[in-house]
Amino acid sequence: MTDVLLETRGLTKAFGAVRASDNVSLSLCAGEIHAIIGPNGAGKSTLIGQICGTLVPDSGSVHLAGVEVTARPPQARARLGLARTFQVSQLAMDDTVLQNAVLGALGASGSPWHFFRPALSDKTMRDTAEAALARVGLAEQASAVTAELSHGQRRLLEVAVALTLRPKVFVMDEPMAGLGTEGSASLTRLLDELRREAPILLVEHDMDAVFALADRISVLVYGQIIATGTVEEIRNNAAVREAYLGEAS
Ligand code: ADP
Ligand code: MG
Repeated sequence: MTDVLLETRGLTKAFGAVRASDNVSLSLCAGEIHAIIGPNGAGKSTLIGQICGTLVPDSGSVHLAGVEVTARPPQARARLGLARTFQVSQLAMDDTVLQNAVLGALGASGSPWHFFRPALSDKTMRDTAEAALARVGLAEQASAVTAELSHGQRRLLEVAVALTLRPKVFVMDEPMAGLGTEGSASLTRLLDELRREAPILLVEHDMDAVFALADRISVLVYGQIIATGTVEEIRNNAAVREAYLGEAS
């Protein structure tokens, strides 16, 4: 059987009369990139919020590596291996690139924040941080001040910070947003490799990136998944074309 690392079952969440999530069931399996696409207001952020623990569903459940986490706070899910990136940048702009990566490693170790300074000289954490920076191609920028990085490099650094947590699952909310062609291309290459370390649930508007990366695509419209399939299946799905892809072209 395929190894399911993240699963939602019948997630439903209403805001007043709006059903932002309407019985959403999906899975994320080892090794895959599962993209969630849909027009503005379809309920993508609401879904991500329930998966990551910032929103509590009205009904339904969320399962992470076999553990039900529906009622658990975001930090507890992070400790179980859920890495969320790109919602709001958590980077400390005045710190160096390496310091930011070490902060991530520190979070994973469970140490309190005020031990940060000693942590920079802690060899294990430094090694973990340096390995993560090398993984995303930022080894040479390790001692640069984070504010000096390009937008695209900061995205890569956010991935490096997430990597220091040794995640079981990545959840990424529009990682390509605001990146130029070059930035999108290097992030696309990185995500393509990262799926082997941990599968990625990818909410993304950049359809070039989605079609290049996704093993499966789920299309969300008015809070409901109207189709799940491979790139080819989704491209050729009449309902999807009408509800979403047609609108975009
Ligand atoms: P997407 O991320 O796909 O653009 P959202 O999940 O942000 O969609 O929103 C889905 C629907 O839920 C929209 O109709 C939106 O207006 C509504 N919604 C989202 N969050 C709230 C909220 N906190 N209060 C009221 N309505 C909300
Ligand atoms: Mg959104």
